[in-house]
Formats: sequence, structure tokens, C-alpha cells
Amino acid sequence: MKALAVEDRAQFFGKVVPAARGPASINKKQDMRIALAGNPNSGKTTLFNTLTGARQHVGNYPGVTVEKKEGWSRHGERDIKIIDLPGAYSLTAYSQEEIVARDYLVNEKPRVVINVTDASNLERNLYLTCQFLEMGIPTIIALNMMDVARQRGITIDADKLSQLIGVPVVPVIARSGKGKDALMAAVAEAIDRAGEVRETWRISYGEHIDSMLAGMTEKIEQNGFLNETCPARWLALKYLENDAQVMEKGRRINPRLAEELERSVRELTGHLQQTVGSYPEGIIADQRYGYIKSLLRQGVMNRQHDTERLYLSDKIDQVLTNRLIGPLLMFAILFGLYQFSFTFSEIPVSWLESLFSWLGGMADTLLADGLLKSLVISGIIDGVGGVIGFVPIIMFMFLGIAVLEDSGYLARVAFMMDKVFSTFGLHGNSVMSYIISGGIAGGCAVPGVMATRTLRSPRERLATILTAPFMNCGAKLPVLILLTSAFFAANQAQFLLGFTLLAWVVALLVAKLLRSTILRGASTPFVMELPPYRLPTLRGLFIHTWERTWQYIRKAGTVILAISILLWAMMTFPGLSATEKEKFIEQRAATLGMYAPEVIALVAEADEVTGPDALQLKEELARIEAAQAGLALRQSFAGRIGTALEKISWLAGFDWRTNIALVGGFAAKEVVVSTLGTAYSLGEIDPEETTSLADTLAASPDWSPLKAMALIVFIMFYAPCFVTVVCIVRESGSWKWGLFSMAFNTVFAFSLATAVYQLGSLVLARG
Ligand code: GDP
Ligand code: MG
Repeated sequence: MKALAVEDRAQFFGKVVPAARGPASINKKQDMRIALAGNPNSGKTTLFNTLTGARQHVGNYPGVTVEKKEGWSRHGERDIKIIDLPGAYSLTAYSQEEIVARDYLVNEKPRVVINVTDASNLERNLYLTCQFLEMGIPTIIALNMMDVARQRGITIDADKLSQLIGVPVVPVIARSGKGKDALMAAVAEAIDRAGEVRETWRISYGEHIDSMLAGMTEKIEQNGFLNETCPARWLALKYLENDAQVMEKGRRINPRLAEELERSVRELTGHLQQTVGSYPEGIIADQRYGYIKSLLRQGVMNRQHDTERLYLSDKIDQVLTNRLIGPLLMFAILFGLYQFSFTFSEIPVSWLESLFSWLGGMADTLLADGLLKSLVISGIIDGVGGVIGFVPIIMFMFLGIAVLEDSGYLARVAFMMDKVFSTFGLHGNSVMSYIISGGIAGGCAVPGVMATRTLRSPRERLATILTAPFMNCGAKLPVLILLTSAFFAANQAQFLLGFTLLAWVVALLVAKLLRSTILRGASTPFVMELPPYRLPTLRGLFIHTWERTWQYIRKAGTVILAISILLWAMMTFPGLSATEKEKFIEQRAATLGMYAPEVIALVAEADEVTGPDALQLKEELARIEAAQAGLALRQSFAGRIGTALEKISWLAGFDWRTNIALVGGFAAKEVVVSTLGTAYSLGEIDPEETTSLADTLAASPDWSPLKAMALIVFIMFYAPCFVTVVCIVRESGSWKWGLFSMAFNTVFAFSLATAVYQLGSLVLARG
């Protein structure tokens, strides 16, 4: 049977040059686009990386690739562009990811689609395949994860499948690259043949639906309705499946026909309801699965019952996701992650600290006193060094998270948290967004906010978008680490775990608040597939860890460096007036006048002074120095802003220096550390004796554990950084929500910090 006339096919593949003109004319770059599509977690991104050599983020949970990614692969003479699409279970657009994938296929029309399937779970994966074929997209099936299938005792006859279904089927192991040449050869062949006219593939949906489909298809064809983009029968099917996007489009383009089609669907629906008690969508899905089952039974798939291995994942899950033991194990694992990171990073962190203080010392001796020296030491070395110093801890943490993620454990975390989440008006998929934002430690709210696209309910999605930035992202982490190592060093891991839990509790409570006020509405059910446990590969762990660590380092070398210099300038200029400088010079002269020339010479020349007089002189000079630097900082542009804010910020115990850091932190949270570094090194008592910032803060009379605690609370919850705000605006589609999150979070965080500080002071005063 032919569903489409030849002309329609040509139109459907609008940009494709007819086969008659031969390969030479096809060999044009824009026609060399092929797309990778398949179910979530079937290995698309892994295959993409193998084919293109790119290092995209590979994750063992659904929802990682939300936007499509592009890369090039060379095959013989050709450069082939490969697009990694988000995962989809169906081409009836239900989730944002499925819409992205479908829109790409419909509008951009890649030459060939590589349908990546999980061979160990073929039955379910072929459901999507059926839809590609019905859509008339030239398809190649990549039977991925053949290694897993073999382990589970599943054998698949690829040739037989190819024969029955009528498209090339190539077994591959994306992870090791096995089979990729055969796959690319099949792609090359399919590209050459993409313009050929083939029979349209179709499944029978039973008498009722088939005849209705035929009628609708004919109407669609006669009206030339949308079929420059899709085959008519496919459109008719979408009507029967109640596809909102297609129906809405239909109403806009041809209201009369749309009305007619919808009426047909209503009629059929009523009829099916009465006769078989089911909806067309249900019958269509059943028929597709039935078709696949019978296909697989015709000698395509064989399963030896190797129960041992087959159920290993399930056995592990009986323990790890157990109602009682599961959550306990989860906390133990997370705590282990923190312990691991801190234990192993101690030594490299101290190396980095010495490196930067050595650099500071070098700059101090090499450069003449003046603005340049101040810029290099206070602006660059202290600013960037403060941020880079955390690289080892962050790297170990990322490594730990990569293990959890690649093994499939993170998906279990989401699964276990779903029950908790639904009581707070969120959705199981929100968990992933929290985790990506830094829910375990060191993520980023930008991809976290983007990951909410897997949520179907707009209100649940918005509530997730607005609360995900409460997580402790990779930029807040150094600030938290700095303050805990200065004030709570003995129990650092416990404190950090505590702050992680606090972030979740606050995020959930705020979500509940939002969902019961401005975002009130029903919740949607959660279906999450648990990917099988997999042993992470070293390469995967390395890529994951390095990718994120490098992102952090690069940010320190670019954005943070720029902001650090800007803030240094704001903290340095306009500087003291001539009369004020004069005053300090006079003070110095007066002090020197009280000592004998030998003592003065001793202090000026020797690094280490001895003798009571010399020591006293040195101390007095240092005091004058600090007073001058302190006054200059206070009168600088930044100092004035910080001082102005003190009028309110004293409530939470923040002084003007902290205020400067917090304002800078809106640009990027890491800046809080570098700004404190600059503020304290500009006013440092003894610049020759470089101590780490943590020690400086711990020794400073202006600081106390209570103030540190109030500050931590504020930093955790105040306005998201600028980039996140932009992302919130983009994802929510309105400036309103970006402004809301800035204002709401800041007010909220400030109230919380004030409560901590005031109540804490009260308790301390009593006790
Ligand atoms: P996507 O969601 O389709 O992009 O899937 P990913 O590429 O993120 O892969 C999901 C998980 O499957 C990752 O943990 C991969 O390492 C793993 N994986 C991908 N291909 C293979 C394979 O051929 N064999 C095995 N054993 N694991 C694979
Ligand atoms: Mg992916």
C-alpha cells in the first residue's frame, strides 16, 4: 500500500535532492545532517561522543540532554554533522524533551535518523522506532548496549530484525566504540539513498482505526494540509492520538479542515468507547506493542533465563531503595562523599596555598610599591588564588558525584525522594533538577533550572525553577568551605552535610509555600524508570570530573578574574586625599622620632627583628599602616556602598567589608571569597607575613562563629547569581520570575540570617 504519492514524498523530504542526480550533488554540507534519537538513557550521548570525539555530558539518568548538541564526524570523504537529540519515549509530544526532539525531526528534517536503542530492553525501545518509521524518516537502528544484553543472556538477530522491519540494524557498544564503523558505513549508504522513494511503513491498528485513518489521510492529502512537513497518515494518527500541538497547528492553518478532522476523531472515540471501552490512543499503543512483540518472537530475540545476572540490579535495589534502609544508606553514602573529599584534598590544598603565598611573596619583592603591586597582589593573586585554592576539594567531590551518577545511584536518589517531594507540591523529576543544581554539592543552578524541562506541569516546573537555586552550587561551595574551615574546622564534614540538608529543607518548604499560594494547583503523577546499575568506566569518571573541574577553573581565570579586578579598583579608588596621606606621614615621622637610629635601621633592613625596642617600633608602624589601608578601603567606592548597607546589614551582623563581598557575589558567588580576600589583604596588618584567608578571618576580632553562621545562611539563600537569573527568565518566559527570585530570595535570606544572628546573640549573652 502506498500512503503518499511520489510528489508528496519529494515534498516531505523538501531539501533532499532526488536520487536521480546522483551522489555528487548530494555531497553538500547542509545535507549531511544526521540525528541521534532514542529513549532516555539508551546511550545517545555516549554514541555521540564516540562518533564525534566530543565530550558531552553522559549521565546514567533520564533528562540529562535537554537541548540538542551538534558535532562532526568524518567518514571517508565526507564530513557528517551529528545532532544529539533529547530522549523521547514517544513522538506524541508529552514532555518538553519530546517536543524538542520532534520539532527537530519535523522541521529540520535530518537526512537520516540513527535510532539508538537499548538492546537489553528492546521491546520498549522499539515503540519509538515504530513512530520514526510511520513518520517516514529514513532510519537506521543502532542496537546499543549489546554487552549488557549479552550479560543478561539476551541474543538478538540483527539481520532478521532488519529484514522484518525494513531498515538497517547495526549492533554497537557505544561505550567501547565497537561497531561504530559498521554504523557509519550504514549511515553513508542511507545518505546516498535518502532521496529514493520507498514504500511507507505502516502498522495495522485494527479495522475501525484503519478505515478512519484512510479517510482522514485522504482528506489531508487533498487539502495539501501540512504535508510538506509530515506524511498525511502520520498527521491523521496524531489527531487520533489527541496530539495537542498538531491539533492546535491545524486549527490555525486550516480551521475548516481541522474541525472536520476533529469531528471524525470524536465520532470514532465515541464509537470505540461504546464498543470496546477504550480510547483510540490506547488502542494505537496496544497495537504497536503487539506488533513489536510478534516481531521479536519471530526469531529476532532470544532470552536464556539467566536469572542470576538478569536480576542483579533488582537485587541491589531491594537493599538500596528499601523503605527503611534505603534513606539511611543514602545519608551514609552522602556523608562518605564529604569525608572522602575532605580527607583526600587536604594535602593538595595546602600545596596550592603555599604556591599562591609564594607567588604573592615574589610579586612583593619584584614589584615596586604602588598601584601595580596592589593590583597584582590584592586584585589578581589573592582574588583568583582564593578561588583556585579550592580546586582539589571540588575535584574530589565531583569525582565522588561522578561515581554515584554513572553507576545509576543518583536515579535511585531521585526515586526515593519522590515520595517526599510530592508532599511538598513538587515532582519526582524536580529531584534531578535539585541534584544538578548542587543538591549533593557543587552543581550549578543554570543546568539545574534547564533540567526542569522534563516537568510537564507548568506550576510544578516553576516551583522547581524558583527553588533549585537554593542548592549549594559549586560557586557557593568555596565560600562555605572557607567559613567552615575558619570557624568550624573540627567538624567540617558534618557542618557541610548539615548545610546540604538545610538547603533541601528550605527549598522544599519554600516550594510548599509557593505551591500553596501563588502556584497552587494539582500535582502530576511520576513514572521514573530506574536504569540498571552499571560499573562506571574510568574514562567516564575522568571526563565527568575533568569537565566540571575545568569549568570551575576556567571561570576562575575569566569571569572571576575580571570581576576581581573590577572590585579591586572599586576598593582602591578614589584613595585617600593628600591631607589624609599627609597625616599618616606625620604620624610615621613622629613615631620614628621616638626611637634611636640603630633601631630604625634594624627594623628597616632585617626581616626578623629582635630586641624589645625594635619589636615595638615594628608593631607601631604596622598599626599605622593598617589604619591607613583601612581608611582608604572605607573611603573607596566599594567601601562607601558597603558602609551604606551597614545601616540594615548590622541586623544580621554583616560589616561593610562583608557587604562589599555580598554585592560582588551577585555577579558570581565565588567572588565572595575573592572579595573577602582582597578586602582583608588590602587592610592586612603585616603584608610580609601572608596567612591564608581562613586564618585571617579566624584571628580577626570582627568575626565570630555566630557571624560566620549568619553569613553562611545568607549566602546559601540570597539572590541567585546573575547568570541563573537570566536563565530563570528564559525558562519561565518572563522577567517577572527573575525579579521575583532576586527580591524574594534576598529578603528571605536576610530575615533568616538576622534571626540566626539575633537569636544566637541572645543565647550567647544568656549562657
Ligand atoms: P542518553 O540519555 O541516551 O544520552 O544516554 P547516555 O549516553 O547518557 O548513557 C546512559 C548510560 O549508559 C551511561 O551510564 C553510559 O555510560 C551507559 N552506556 C552507554 N552505552 C553503553 C554501552 O554500549 N554499554 C554499556 N554497558 N553502557 C553504555
Ligand atoms: Mg544524553
